[in-house]
Amino acid sequence: MKQPRPQTLEGVTSMYPEVEIVGLSLPVEVSDEGKIRVRDDLEGFLADRLIADAGRTCYQTNEKATAEKDLLLIKNMAKSGHTSVFEHANITIRIRGGSRSFTHQLVRHRHQAISQESQRYCDEGSFGFVIPPSIEEAGLEDLYKQKIQQAQQAYLLLQDKLNEAKKAGKLSKDRKTNEDARFILPNAVQSEIVITPNFTELRNMFVKRLTSHAQWEIFGVFEIILKKVVKISDVFDDINEYFQANGNLDTFKLVA
Ligand SMILES: Cc1cc2nc3c(=O)[nH]c(=O)nc-3n(C[C@H](O)[C@H](O)[C@H](O)COP(=O)(O)OP(=O)(O)OC[C@H]3O[C@@H](n4cnc5c(N)ncnc54)[C@H](O)[C@@H]3O)c2cc1C
Repeated sequence: MKQPRPQTLEGVTSMYPEVEIVGLSLPVEVSDEGKIRVRDDLEGFLADRLIADAGRTCYQTNEKATAEKDLLLIKNMAKSGHTSVFEHANITIRIRGGSRSFTHQLVRHRHQAISQESQRYCDEGSFGFVIPPSIEEAGLEDLYKQKIQQAQQAYLLLQDKLNEAKKAGKLSKDRKTNEDARFILPNAVQSEIVITPNFTELRNMFVKRLTSHAQWEIFGVFEIILKKVVKISDVFDDINEYFQANGNLDTFKLVA
């Protein structure tokens, strides 16, 4: 899937969106003094050990945990729908350079923590923006950039006028002018966001966003996320195998 090309009016910033895993639940030991040690002496994926050990609680088996046994247990839990166990692991992902259209879809997923760049507090005077592939394919880049530039000028003008009105005492001193100037901003504006879903929710998100019905940008971002998470966990193996074989998850059956 072709990735969107976020730009500023000065030019292409990079091949965004940039997706970075910045946090992950790991098995730890905490001493009485509160010192934390990540149990990195374990074989296999660490987040999976946390999940598998929680899963073993259900069956009270005394088996010695190994990477192979973790994998088998996780495969069985995914197959049988015993997926609440996957909720023991959370993942934190930072996404930079996606459009506000994309983030609006992303935040519809309810079982996740979200922190997003604020258009109330931040100055969007020199915003970056995303160019949809169809605009490039149709040769409409110049027109698109021109319209984006007009939106930027409108934002700056409103910002100035609102600030002037504030100075002149026509608006209360507490008024945040950016929060009203932003009403003129396009959906193409880039917006940085950090999300923390648990692994069960992330599985749900893949199944919704990696289908042929999904919008290209969110599809592209979840394709990148999938590539990254299969390197740190087996919880997404079934989804990844299906996706690699079919190019989408249109007919993937999620047992939940
Ligand atoms: C192709 C596509 C087109 C879309 N088009 C539109 C549109 O035109 N307009 C629009 O408004 N939205 C649209 N959406 C958004 C969609 O309706 C969902 O809001 C979004 O996909 C989040 O999915 P979800 O609610 O299943 O999942 P999440 O919020 O991620 O929840 C995960 C799962 O938890 C369960 N769950 C969560 N909350 C509840 C609850 N309160 N009660 C019972 N079960 C719950 C459900 O099983 C759910 O699937 C679209 C989504 C897609 C993928």
